Amino acid sequence: MIKDVLLNVLIILIPLVSFQLAVPHTYNEKKWFNPTVLFAIINGFSLFLCITFPVEMKEGYFFDFRAIPLAMSFLYGSYLVGFTTFGLYFIYRIFIIGTTGIFFGIVVSLAIILFCLLTYKAFHHGKLRKKIFLVIKMSLIIFLLKLARCAFNWHNWQMNAHDLSLMVLYLAVMIAAFALIIILVENYRNQQNKQMEQADKINSVGQLAASITHEVRNPMTVARGFMQIFQSEEYIPDDKKIFLNMMIQEIDRAQAIITDYLSIVKQDGLKIEQLNIKELIDSLGSVMNPFALLKGVELHYNTDQDLYIIGDQGKLKQVLMNIIKNAIEATPQGGQVTLSTIEYKNEVSIHIKDTGIGMTKEQLKKLGDPYFSTKPSGTGLGLTASYRIVEEMNGKINVESEPDIGTTFKLTFPKA
Ligand code: ADP
Ligand code: MG
Repeated sequence: MIKDVLLNVLIILIPLVSFQLAVPHTYNEKKWFNPTVLFAIINGFSLFLCITFPVEMKEGYFFDFRAIPLAMSFLYGSYLVGFTTFGLYFIYRIFIIGTTGIFFGIVVSLAIILFCLLTYKAFHHGKLRKKIFLVIKMSLIIFLLKLARCAFNWHNWQMNAHDLSLMVLYLAVMIAAFALIIILVENYRNQQNKQMEQADKINSVGQLAASITHEVRNPMTVARGFMQIFQSEEYIPDDKKIFLNMMIQEIDRAQAIITDYLSIVKQDGLKIEQLNIKELIDSLGSVMNPFALLKGVELHYNTDQDLYIIGDQGKLKQVLMNIIKNAIEATPQGGQVTLSTIEYKNEVSIHIKDTGIGMTKEQLKKLGDPYFSTKPSGTGLGLTASYRIVEEMNGKINVESEPDIGTTFKLTFPKA
């Protein structure tokens, strides 16, 4: 019997866990993927397994945990999910099992549905403890219904102390399984919420940065203007003018960096224009070279040819900076990161090659999944955004990687 009980707990757990694994992919907004429908189908499937593999408490007398997937689809899904799951159950119950004992089955199901609908608000506004308390209540109602049915002697089953203790055991297992699932789902949801908040924070920080850089640029322009005026003054000796020159150059450099950052955080739609890949990569130097220097990594450029593609300059810069930054971060001190542009038939490729730590096959598979990051303070969003942007520009990203040898990101776009 314990084996059966464990099997049932697994049956209820597996679909829920797989649903949780499936959810992050909705981030990609694939159109064919509808989490609501998936949730209903998974719950229906779980219900189906619960009914098919019930726990035999006593010869000819079975218990199962069908209440759990049914309740879950109402509590965590919507009316649609709930009633779809219930419909699937109904069809299965009538057409496959037959109508014996259906009355009682429907009564229990309706009791569960009613309970879920009545407590829905309390359930979702309550803390974890309240939720568990509510499912205990629900389990008790189911238990009492079953007890009442036995009292009516439906199957000519004489209740004795042993049977009663079996029933209580069933109740205990049901509560434990219910609580376990609620805890797992809640834990997962909390984590997701935290990650979403984090992503939101990054987004708003980006927007703030855009406005701040704007404010910083104006006074810099004024200062630069005055320096230029001083430069043309005759009473300032030439050996001092050298310093003025240096100041102007440094301000120009700071402005270039700000411009690059601005182009990243600006959130406009896709601006389609002809882009010179070589110029674009060279312009990233002002931001990427200092970062490479800081990490002790050499940054090489193999970009002599002028190559053109069609795309959004700001967004492509964002993509390249993400990927180059990842490459530099993955490379230990003294390593190299090489940027090359290659022309092949009707396509233009940008290769970002590093001599870094590389990735395993498993890591490669997860690349681009939201929140996949191996860094302590990583967001795992950089590549997700990059893949999306490149796709929007009709390009593709291929990655080759060997652990301890290095990684090459190949971005390919149609030639303009
Ligand atoms: P983050 O940089 O915040 O971790 P990304 O989406 O930019 O998020 O990258 C996701 C993960 O992909 C990284 O944490 C890292 O494990 C892996 N990765 C990306 N580029 C490289 C690379 N060049 N070498 C090794 N691992 C990489
Ligand atoms: Mg990154």
